[in-house]
Amino acid sequence: MVNKPSHNEEAYFANIELERRKKRQDEQERKKSNMLPNMQMKCPKCDRELVKSIYLDFTINKCEACKGVWVDSERLDQLTTKNS
Ligand SMILES: [Zn+2]
Repeated sequence: MVNKPSHNEEAYFANIELERRKKRQDEQERKKSNMLPNMQMKCPKCDRELVKSIYLDFTINKCEACKGVWVDSERLDQLTTKNS
């Protein structure tokens, strides 16, 4: 007779795989939401909420704590072409 792996063990490994997949999905969702300009962004440096402000015609995200400014690359391109 062949020794089959116990059912419990299979369920256990299936669970691990499921958790791993879910974690990866969560991370991707988080990355996606970080890229949306209308979502509340957090400073990657000090984890404070960024304050939206308008620079020229563009919305930028400022960090009051470290004075960092976050602009998505698309806007940055528009800003640089506008100034040149
Ligand atoms: Zn900051």
